[in-house]
Amino acid sequence: MELTIIGCSGSFPGPDSAASCYLAEAEGFRMLIDLGNGALGALQRFAGLDQIDAVCLSHLHADHCLDMCGYQVARAYHPAGPLRRIPVYGPDGTAERLDRATGSLNTSVTNAFDFVTLVPGTLEIGPFQITAGHMNHPVETFGFRISHAGRTVAYSADTGPSEQLVSLAAGADVLLCEASFTAGPQLPADLHLTGAQAGEHAARAGVGELVLTHLVPWNSRDQARAEAAVTYSGPLSLAAPGMRI
Ligand SMILES: [Zn+2]
Ligand SMILES: [Zn+2]
Repeated sequence: MELTIIGCSGSFPGPDSAASCYLAEAEGFRMLIDLGNGALGALQRFAGLDQIDAVCLSHLHADHCLDMCGYQVARAYHPAGPLRRIPVYGPDGTAERLDRATGSLNTSVTNAFDFVTLVPGTLEIGPFQITAGHMNHPVETFGFRISHAGRTVAYSADTGPSEQLVSLAAGADVLLCEASFTAGPQLPADLHLTGAQAGEHAARAGVGELVLTHLVPWNSRDQARAEAAVTYSGPLSLAAPGMRI
């Protein structure tokens, strides 16, 4: 499989990156993981709007789902005619949340998408086997273990320290892990990870490679990397738009 980083800015878009969005491709099937604010524009550099086969939303914070509102418009009013409906996997209440954000009385995201409520467990989406597990975040949030042809990528979504993340990522080739915080006193609990905590999770899960993502624009990328390098000794990199794994 190939994973392309479309957006990796944490909590809101930055000057050089949209908010969270990743494109997973295998056997000609294209699946988006999250579609945060700004990501619909950046996506078009890597895939046509009519070339997406499924969407998987980790949670309903704006920086992970809000560009679904614009994507609904693009699919429903495409010049070639309405595009075929595609499945959207997300937490309970995803369609209602997106309709509230869209704010229109005469259109609904359900015109363009078939919504499937995620629950913890394993499911098949196209050629991918996906295991979803609850993360440690203030709203219902799923991390994903995505496997295809013997290769596995794990994605933390947004999370504070999480045993579930360690098991979801166990032995994965790549862990795409959030590192929203840099070390400091009195960080909020059960919300996000520091670079050092991302490294700890990667080390405990025994992953082959760690990629730090959800990097918040006002924090130092170099510091996030340096913190993670203290706790994880394997291959380590920082996500950047256009990066392919
Ligand atoms: Zn986020
Ligand atoms: Zn969040």
